[in-house]
Amino acid sequence: MREERKSMLIVISGPSGVGKGTIYNRLLDQDPSLTFSVSVTTRAPRPGEIDGVDYFFISDAEYEELVRKDAFVEHATVHGHSYGTLKTQVEEKMAKGLSVVLDIDPQGAKNVMKACPDCVSIFLLPPSYEKLRQRLYGRNTDDPKEIERRLSNARGEIEQVGMYQYTVVNDDLDLAYEQVAAIITAEKQRTTRYFPVVE
Ligand code: ADP
Ligand code: 5GP
Repeated sequence: MREERKSMLIVISGPSGVGKGTIYNRLLDQDPSLTFSVSVTTRAPRPGEIDGVDYFFISDAEYEELVRKDAFVEHATVHGHSYGTLKTQVEEKMAKGLSVVLDIDPQGAKNVMKACPDCVSIFLLPPSYEKLRQRLYGRNTDDPKEIERRLSNARGEIEQVGMYQYTVVNDDLDLAYEQVAAIITAEKQRTTRYFPVVE
């Protein structure tokens, strides 16, 4: 039997600074069957972020227009800015047979889980709030006011961990990466994702 597997939607959430991007960028580098859904956001780009790669950076008016056109799989206000997953990103990438990684907050994750019950959902936890704080300050991409807003929102986000299928504590980065990679490997092998191909 040929190894054909249905593509999947992989939802990764966790408080700001926990290491989501660090882990999934490594996954995307290692596994060519995975791709990233580029979201839209109304927040300003951070130094080094590239429009169309990290996000599509858009105005409030453009965002409202996308909402009006029903262009989103899900959209939400997070840390005071608007974010949304475009239907075109998910549909076009899945149509190519790729599995699509979504880096979205728990509000968005809840809606994706409802719309796509066979998605894979992973929540990344920090080893402690103190380490989360150190990572946000260490990353040095947000001002202290923004960091404190993200830290205070982290508690509410972490309270929603129960709706996710998997939880991984990102303390040792290599271990957390291996754990997330193992989840994805196992999920690919689910019989429900097997695609019988007669040679
Ligand atoms: P997120 O995407 O969840 O906001 P990032 O991937 O940007 O978080 O990571 C935040 C910061 O923490 C980055 O500077 C990153 O290098 C660092 N980091 C990620 N994982 C670990 C880890 N396991 N131990 C120490 N620092 C980490
Ligand atoms: P950041 O501003 O640090 O890139 O992201 C802030 C938060 O927004 C993170 O929790 C991230 O998961 C979330 N986020 C990014 N894109 C989307 C999206 O398209 N939809 C939702 N609901 N959340 C998103």
